[in-house]
Amino acid sequence: MTVPDIPQEGPHVVLVSTRTVLTLPDDSLLLTPATVIVSPATGKIISAIPEIIPRSSFPSDTVYHDYSPKLLLPGLVDAHVHLNEPGRTEWEGFYTGTRAAASGGVTTVVDMPLNAVPPTTTLEGFKAKLAASQGQCWVDVGFYGGVIPGNADQLLPLVEAGVRGFKGFLIDSGVPEFPAVSSTDIELAMKTLKDAPTTLMFHAEIIPPIADSVGDSVQVSDPPLRPRGELNSYTTWLLSRPPAFETYAIEEILSIAHVAPDLHLHIVHLSAMECIPILREARKKGIKITAETCFHYLGFSSDEIEDGDTRHKCCPPIRNQVNQDRLWEEISDPEGCIKTIVSDHSPCTPELKLLPPHLQSGHRPTMHQCDSGIDMTLPEEERLAAEEAEKARLDGPVEIQGDFFAAWGGVSSVGLGLPILYTFAAEREARGDITPSIVDIVRMCSQATAQQVGLAHCKGGIRAGMDADFAIFDDADVWTLRAADMRWKNRCSPWEGHTFRGRVHETWLRGQKIFELGGPNDGFVGGKPIGRAITEKRMK
Ligand SMILES: [Zn+2]
Repeated sequence: MTVPDIPQEGPHVVLVSTRTVLTLPDDSLLLTPATVIVSPATGKIISAIPEIIPRSSFPSDTVYHDYSPKLLLPGLVDAHVHLNEPGRTEWEGFYTGTRAAASGGVTTVVDMPLNAVPPTTTLEGFKAKLAASQGQCWVDVGFYGGVIPGNADQLLPLVEAGVRGFKGFLIDSGVPEFPAVSSTDIELAMKTLKDAPTTLMFHAEIIPPIADSVGDSVQVSDPPLRPRGELNSYTTWLLSRPPAFETYAIEEILSIAHVAPDLHLHIVHLSAMECIPILREARKKGIKITAETCFHYLGFSSDEIEDGDTRHKCCPPIRNQVNQDRLWEEISDPEGCIKTIVSDHSPCTPELKLLPPHLQSGHRPTMHQCDSGIDMTLPEEERLAAEEAEKARLDGPVEIQGDFFAAWGGVSSVGLGLPILYTFAAEREARGDITPSIVDIVRMCSQATAQQVGLAHCKGGIRAGMDADFAIFDDADVWTLRAADMRWKNRCSPWEGHTFRGRVHETWLRGQKIFELGGPNDGFVGGKPIGRAITEKRMK
């Protein structure tokens, strides 16, 4: 066996595994033994060959890694992450959020336009975000712009400046600087972006005119949003955001879609199974619309969420087991409307989660300051005040603790995608249920997410010419997520205590190993971040 023609400048790095997911010339994916030759100088893959070429075939100065039988996968592209910096850096930040990504094989994250202050709804806001990201990114970071009422004139300049897509809310976003859009605003955004190389995305929930009024009670029913029942009951929360919120919003978007027939439309964090036939029908008619779902909708069901456990609060809500099964079926069908799976990593400070004390076991309010990369040392006076506030919170009024309506919504999970999907897929397979393969998982978490944000030419696949971004995934490693394993800033996640099958052991970014589980410096090889802000203009 001979080494194929490769440029002479070296030394090269070679990664091999008997279980590699390669991208073939026709864009299909193949699980195969493979040899991947990388140039550390350019950070690119020089060659990806679907067979194992032995170490002895390469020049003696070649750095050769045989990862068999671990899986050699393209780095994940998490197309939905909230990094919240600048402005709400106490919730998350570039440094901590991207470290969490790196530790889980995620080599690109795409930052959402809201929860930072300023939001990415203007060119100025985008510049502020880029400035804040400098020198802090452990993985590559792309950015979305936001669509809000009155910012239509900013959309094309943001495309020129390199945003990967746009997102708008059809319902209150939870933060005042990112108001919801009306149908008129959506139509204007669609018309503005109709020929632009971008993706227009929607948080698809809206309050239907009479969401849950039936029969004789139609005249006396409560407004749809008024909760009925205990506020710390998950059922009360779930019933307050029915599937009709999602289907109604999608119908609204589809009713306007004709104004921009070539624009890629996308529904973020789809939860309700009732949306699936609507989107399938629209796609059949030729409307360019796709959807994503999230790890938490595939891993949790409402039946198992304890009252008061606000770590599970997100919008739209986690629904029941029947709904979850339908989502799994849809992602297992390559012709389905759900094309991507993302984290929607959206943390906040533990105070805002209002978590009752009995659910805080093992929970660490914040990272040790030396882990976070940000000096969180407070002056004595502020430290005492913070301790006082923390004590007041723990002793606080019981009626607020565990209140699903008062707690901030959002689940922290960036970097956990591979273990979550692999674990639940394996369980489903063992039961004989329809389930995606590891190749499908790579398609939905790397290849299709890269496509969604216009990075398919360099991210999300192992083939010649692509960025040398890899995740080494040991699917035999069984482990339990502890607070200390969480790399994001606020160690609060409903995944704490879950036992997973499969763990990322190494992560490579553009030809450099950036993370090695159990290695020195908490696994962060090199000790300093080498990720980049992605600002190249999207071409398609
Ligand atoms: Zn989000």
